[in-house]
Amino acid sequence: MSDSSFDLVVIGGGPGGYVAAIRAAQLGLSVAIVEKRPTLGGTCLNVGCIPSKALLAASHHYHTAAHGLGAFGVKVAGVELDLPAMMAHKDKVVADNTKGIDFLLKKNKITRILGAGSLAGNGQVTVTAADGAVSTVAARSIVLATGSEVTPLPGLAIDEEVFVSSTGALALPQVPKRLVVIGGGVIGLELGTVWSRLGSEVTVVEYLDRILPFHDLEVSKTMTRLLGQQGIGFKLATKVVAGERKGAGAVLTLEPAAGGATETLEADIVLVAIGRRPYVEGLGLEAAGVDLTKRGFVKIDGSFRTSVPGIYAIGDVVGGAMLAHKAEEEGVALAEILAGQHGHVNYEAIPSVVYTWPEVASVGRTEEQLKEAGIAYSVGKFPFLANGRARSMNDTDGFVKILADAATDQVLGAHIIGPNAGDLIAEIVLAIEFGAAAEDIARTCHAHPALSEAVKEAALAANGRAIHV
Ligand SMILES: Cc1cc2nc3c(=O)[nH]c(=O)nc-3n(C[C@H](O)[C@H](O)[C@H](O)COP(=O)(O)OP(=O)(O)OC[C@H]3O[C@@H](n4cnc5c(N)ncnc54)[C@H](O)[C@@H]3O)c2cc1C
Repeated sequence: MSDSSFDLVVIGGGPGGYVAAIRAAQLGLSVAIVEKRPTLGGTCLNVGCIPSKALLAASHHYHTAAHGLGAFGVKVAGVELDLPAMMAHKDKVVADNTKGIDFLLKKNKITRILGAGSLAGNGQVTVTAADGAVSTVAARSIVLATGSEVTPLPGLAIDEEVFVSSTGALALPQVPKRLVVIGGGVIGLELGTVWSRLGSEVTVVEYLDRILPFHDLEVSKTMTRLLGQQGIGFKLATKVVAGERKGAGAVLTLEPAAGGATETLEADIVLVAIGRRPYVEGLGLEAAGVDLTKRGFVKIDGSFRTSVPGIYAIGDVVGGAMLAHKAEEEGVALAEILAGQHGHVNYEAIPSVVYTWPEVASVGRTEEQLKEAGIAYSVGKFPFLANGRARSMNDTDGFVKILADAATDQVLGAHIIGPNAGDLIAEIVLAIEFGAAAEDIARTCHAHPALSEAVKEAALAANGRAIHV
């Protein structure tokens, strides 16, 4: 017998789960959310997006105050780092955000259940609290939104002291003299940037011959150069074959990815950032008959249905772009489907942002993907060096690149490196969502002087008529 019964029980209180819960409640469903962490918001709010951006913002201010204000005629003497205060800023941002989700759940009359959820068959979920107490809830529909966890590197145990995951790298007690980041993806570059700005000598070791492997190749190459100019070292096409603690730090053995002579690399801290994998531990999926993909993600159809009727899944646990806003979109779409509406996610219009400086933002197809698909396209490119606002900010690195269908001019993708790229991309995401042509952006009036003028100029350039280059 269940202790209580709902239209919908969501397991996992991250961006996928809590957003699905709120949207379902808005649409009149009775909803409970089961989360084992004492705070809501999942990976994103607790140990992901939010704390990393708090540290990126804080370290950017520190670095600018120490090195970047002289050119503006601002003299600053005696800039000092107060790392505990910087961490306190991060912790407060996290606490304020997670408490905000508590408020939103209460506002929407969603029942919060603290504990680990497990499928118990026949629409039942067993919840085990931290003290071992077990309760059962019943639901017409169950949503799995249990997210992901750090992918470990075989043979390299994460101790969160010397060999750290992103979670450990968000809370280092002091600035490491030498930080080695294994993995040149988004998380590795963002956290490497934080500690580099605070004074670490950072080396990124990447198995592939490029960083940001899912991005447009031109973006990867340009970011390797720009981050290199900031002092970050790269060892590309290199694999870590062994690692062990040495003194207070560690020593890694590296080998060319294609094989060859090994070398060693010493570090005070090693950040393992080779990716994330679905988190399904303790959910009882096998007993419940929920199928997984070959890579261990929960298998779903186009309407988020798993192999078991009444059980759905969204967010990182189903794979695709492992991004908070993708999880949120899926949460909204699923809630609407469960309420009898026509929820839908346009996966061509999911932006992706790297919050280094300059920022990187992309949406839609890369040049490599268009070539592979045999789609003829035009390229419109505009450098921030030719943008008045970027010049006035002394932030002229990077460009806006828009890829449009050669025949129809429809925008197929965009790739930006530059100041506030993460905000600038929104306009192009909207264009893709509306099926707009590059000319639609080009004929839209943009304020002057604004960074967004670079977007307009890139759209003009797609048809060979940029004004300012
Ligand atoms: C360092 C870092 C930085 C990131 N930065 C960004 C960024 O800038 N932008 C972006 O879009 N994405 C970012 N991400 C990725 C983002 O955090 C994830 O894509 C997002 O959190 C996925 O949401 P989700 O709801 O699917 O899962 P999660 O946020 O992982 O939430 C799942 C929740 O389920 C809970 N749970 C798991 N199993 C159970 C169970 N059996 N019972 C009860 N509860 C359970 C977990 O405790 C967790 O709270 C970052 C990730 C990391 C690690």
